[in-house]
Amino acid sequence: MSTITASEEQRVVDAAPKQLYIGGEWRDGSHGTLSVEDPSTGESLCEVADASPEDAIAALDAAVAAGPEWAQHPPRERGEILRRAFEEIARRADELALLMTLEMGKPLKESKAEITYAAEFLRWFAEEAVRIDGRYAVAPNGQGRLLTMKQPVGPCLLITPWNFPLAMGTRKVGPAIAAGCTMVVKPAQQTPLSMLMLAKILEEAGLPGGVLNLVTSHSSGATMGPLIADPRLRKLSFTGSTEVGRKLMEQASDNLLRLSMELGGNAPFIVFDDADLDAAVQGALIAKMRNIGEACTAANRFYVSDRVAGEFAQRLAEKIGAMKVGRGTEDDVEVGPLIDASQRGKVSELVQDALGKGARALVGGTERDGAGYFFDPTVLTDVPDDANLLTEEIFGPVAPVRGFDDEDEAVAAANDTEYGLVAYVFTRDVKRALRVAERLETGMVGLNQGMVSNPAAPFGGIKQSGFGREGGREGIDEYLETKYVAVNL
Ligand code: NAD
Repeated sequence: MSTITASEEQRVVDAAPKQLYIGGEWRDGSHGTLSVEDPSTGESLCEVADASPEDAIAALDAAVAAGPEWAQHPPRERGEILRRAFEEIARRADELALLMTLEMGKPLKESKAEITYAAEFLRWFAEEAVRIDGRYAVAPNGQGRLLTMKQPVGPCLLITPWNFPLAMGTRKVGPAIAAGCTMVVKPAQQTPLSMLMLAKILEEAGLPGGVLNLVTSHSSGATMGPLIADPRLRKLSFTGSTEVGRKLMEQASDNLLRLSMELGGNAPFIVFDDADLDAAVQGALIAKMRNIGEACTAANRFYVSDRVAGEFAQRLAEKIGAMKVGRGTEDDVEVGPLIDASQRGKVSELVQDALGKGARALVGGTERDGAGYFFDPTVLTDVPDDANLLTEEIFGPVAPVRGFDDEDEAVAAANDTEYGLVAYVFTRDVKRALRVAERLETGMVGLNQGMVSNPAAPFGGIKQSGFGREGGREGIDEYLETKYVAVNL
């Protein structure tokens, strides 16, 4: 791969739409524009529309108007639109990956992987669109029949975070379109460009105006508040922090909205002494360093059997310390910048807190000087119980390693968190693998692998990581209601 030129970068930024997309039309935002920054330089890439609350309501008006036709639209045709968009994303993967790297910072190779992952949700739900069914049953007393049918829930609000700018969108947009729902999408203000491109690609793929409406805004609360309070909205699907998720649940309670909440995580990564240590270190690299550590599924705490903890930490530190840090567009870069100054400040504070309480940095531990929000890949050992990074989501390239004595201790430590999204377990013992997987209080478990994400699998958490599932056979159910008809026969 050769380094990308400035004019190539300019070309993909110029090609992205910058306006709001409402009712099949591109229009300016009533609040002017907001700036999109390149986190590797801190400089502005471009301006996109800044929506007002009235713009957001106009987007809901369009979704409501398009609703009845779209609910009746032949499922095969809904699926074919998704399928065409899947193909177009695959065709334009290089351009989309570059755009994503520019707005979010991750290395090009990782952006490319996200583009593939994101597109796969569209292919998966293109196939699911024609599998929506109901059932017909004889009532237990033999009199009458029970008929059930699945129907779209209606207009949805889909709010997405910045860390996976496209995939967090397609995980919602794909099943919503397949189910026959119309929607208003609000991407994170830091990374609106990938979703704006998705809207354009869906438009070109034949999605009727009003089915998907997109608003970008610098003030999410003020813009989304009136929309959430509008009784015409039926569902809110949110991916983001637990803190904001809680607020949105409160707001959604007035109208008893259907909710899907994909929230924060604090993933434990457990390595038993019988594990294949090479595989565990490799898995740890993926679970920790993918997406610069800015993933809800990122390993946040490493619990390693006392018998191998020293060796594991040493080997992990060697690998992590050798990773090339830099702008995601440059050759061989493996670790990009954090998303902004506030995120880097948070990571720095957590590391300083742990070091101040007695942890040791085997590698890294500091911010990088110069432009952009870079933080040195870090491995910490001797991390004390009261270090804040054991309970808070780090969201950065920092791996705290702790030892444990036996299985019970490892499971208890892993479960000692308010979060419950994912856990990773490395062991060669099949019985132990399944026993521990059953005992872990999480929605997902990675067994001898450092990544669980797969469009064909139900992604989601328990406890304060939220509820609802995205992907898999379960994904479309989030956008369907079951109606029961009692048949007198
Ligand atoms: P965030 O909660 O700050 O923001 C998420 C989205 O919500 C953004 O679009 C933001 O503009 C919007 N938002 C913020 N306040 C709002 C309000 N008052 N009303 C309406 N919308 C509002 O999260 P973030 O910093 O963008 O993303 C990182 C978080 O997302 C992490 O906690 C991470 O774990 C979580 N996440 C979870 C999953 C999952 O599937 N469980 C996936 C990716 C990220």
